Amino acid sequence: MSAEGKKGAFDWYFKSNLLLRILIGLVLGAIVGLIAGESIMWVAPFGDLFVRLLKMIVMPVIFTTLVVGAASISPAELGKVGVKIILFYMLTSAFAVAVGLIMGNIFKPGMGLELASMGAAAGREITAPALKDTLLNIIPTNPFAAIVNGDVLPTIFFAIIFGIGISYLKINKDERVTKAAEMLFKIFDAGAEVMYMVVRWVLQYAPIGVFALLAVVFAQQGAAAVGPLGVVTAASYLGYVLHILLVYGGLLAINKLSLGKFLAGAKEAMITAFVTRSSGGTLPVTMRVSEENLGVSRNVYSFTLPLGATINMDGTAIYQGVCALFIGFAIGMPLELGQQITVIITAVLASIGTAGVPGAGAIMLLMVLNSVGLPVEEGSAVAAAYAMILGIDAILDMGRTGVNVTGDMTGTVLVAKSEGELDMSKWGKAA
Ligand code: ASP
Repeated sequence: MSAEGKKGAFDWYFKSNLLLRILIGLVLGAIVGLIAGESIMWVAPFGDLFVRLLKMIVMPVIFTTLVVGAASISPAELGKVGVKIILFYMLTSAFAVAVGLIMGNIFKPGMGLELASMGAAAGREITAPALKDTLLNIIPTNPFAAIVNGDVLPTIFFAIIFGIGISYLKINKDERVTKAAEMLFKIFDAGAEVMYMVVRWVLQYAPIGVFALLAVVFAQQGAAAVGPLGVVTAASYLGYVLHILLVYGGLLAINKLSLGKFLAGAKEAMITAFVTRSSGGTLPVTMRVSEENLGVSRNVYSFTLPLGATINMDGTAIYQGVCALFIGFAIGMPLELGQQITVIITAVLASIGTAGVPGAGAIMLLMVLNSVGLPVEEGSAVAAAYAMILGIDAILDMGRTGVNVTGDMTGTVLVAKSEGELDMSKWGKAA
């Protein structure tokens, strides 16, 4: 290849759309794996490299983003509106994971893939701890050991407590303490930004990593691996739709508000979320439709919507439920009930740390997997299954971001109504 040609390929790689490249990696990996068979196994280390990079970022991402997330909720805002909306966000997210798990249990995506026969994970016993221990173990006896060992739940717990501590110190009467707390906040904020940047770098390698991981899967599994991805997509989207109809529709109905009118008013934000795959990026639209179409007063939405775009991710929670089950089935170790309950807890907490940007949920899925004893290790079946869903992440992300934003608006409308801050004339009722 000429020097020009090389430069052209290099430029194309870094300038073209990342998700398109990942998708190309997925498709090419599958085709090459199918055609080349076992002779392509030499690419395996390129997949392992990607897995190591992902593992490298998990704990620092969790710790920095959760401290910042928790420290961003100021105690002053934790008044009546704050408590109501946070409860709404947490409870609906827990429901959402349950919806995802139900879909996963019905559809059983990944069943029969038998990835476990591959690589190092084969034969590794994964025993789920008892529920009582799972709950008690959330509280670390030594938070530093939890971080060092990569124990996800205790790290999340400590990060949240630490973040809340910072938010209280920020309003301390003693100026010295306030200043110190603000400085500490800035340090974590910078840390989180650095980690997001590193995530973006790592994702630049994703197309090659996904190619290598998929080539290996298809070399060993053949065409049988295509179907399960369709099932994951169907199960996730059915979960998204059911969650909107049943959970949001139900809650609106209990409050005598029509789901039809809500969707008609909210649709612009939902569509924007769907195409941008970013709750954060959609926020201006979400705010505008909440005020203009849904009649929410600014006092309420100016607090609840930015908070929702940061910590409320019901669509992501559904996706994590479905994908955790997919991976369990794919490696021939279906998640037991205790593990599924752990998924509910971790996925709700993970949603606090998921940034409202494209693809964030897939990074947080790593932490949900860690919590049920399915770490993504190089050469393992879990890594192969994870790479498969990462290949279709853009498709799954569109739907989940749409649901994330819809959930923010539902909570906002309901809290506004309970506070007498909803303009009922927008809902076809006397004001
Ligand atoms: N893209 C999602 C959002 O912005 C987050 C995710 O990846 O799950 O809401």
